[in-house]
Amino acid sequence: MLNIGCHLSSSLGYESMAKTAISIGANTFQYFTRNPRGGAAKAINDKDIESYLKLANENNFAKVIAHAPYTMNLCSATEKIRKFSKNMLKDDILRTELISESYYNFHPGSHTGQGTDVGISLICEALNETLQKNQKTIVLLETMAGKGSEIGGKFEEIAKIRECVELKEKVGVCLDTCHIFDGGYDIVGNLDVVLEEFDKVIGIENLKAVHINDSKNSIGSHKDRHEKIGKGHIGIDAIENIINNRYLKNLPFILETPHDSIEGYAQEIKMLRNLYDE
Ligand code: FE
Ligand code: FE
Ligand code: ZN
Repeated sequence: MLNIGCHLSSSLGYESMAKTAISIGANTFQYFTRNPRGGAAKAINDKDIESYLKLANENNFAKVIAHAPYTMNLCSATEKIRKFSKNMLKDDILRTELISESYYNFHPGSHTGQGTDVGISLICEALNETLQKNQKTIVLLETMAGKGSEIGGKFEEIAKIRECVELKEKVGVCLDTCHIFDGGYDIVGNLDVVLEEFDKVIGIENLKAVHINDSKNSIGSHKDRHEKIGKGHIGIDAIENIINNRYLKNLPFILETPHDSIEGYAQEIKMLRNLYDE
């Protein structure tokens, strides 16, 4: 079965997200742990989590993905921001521990002028201080479009971060199709070559989830503007290939496409389920 869902608002809690996911034919979802522009996380409600776990279990949910807020930057040049980000990472992981089988996805960060190597070592430092041997949550480094001083636009950068993390088994990768396409990886013309490269550089077994998005811009644009499935430069044929690829087909796929209402996601989920070879 295709494991697919979309990004949902977390404002009404976990049970509500599960119900919304079920109503649109999804069996996974992604949510922000707190306001994407920063701020405090909501209080934890044990009953809400209990109801959620029951629903997820009854409906064969794949792993769900918590997404860090955009304000998190573990490799900022500003110490205050790094500290704030590290505290957020610690607190968010404690929260995701309450949801069994959870991923915690984050953008590696922007080095804000310090250079890629310094940025990578700051990210490693933060992960080594935060990750715990007994945690169940796997954190995911998201592949980026390489906009500005963003780290993670090249597979090599992601690999370097993993290399210096001690608890490597707690660090996986989430592949964002819009981002890597914008980053110059030709998933339209040659998906196999891109995945072979991923395997050679990072190791395909470390790929844990996919953000399935089309792109408003052409390959190598470094823009990071998501488009609806089939309406962008990636196109429906390439997306069909991606969801059916033998390395990818059993991973959770999360839509982060631009829609005004949940109905748009329901339609995309239906379309992708129809294109999926069981
Ligand atoms: Fe993201
Ligand atoms: Fe993404
Ligand atoms: Zn994006």
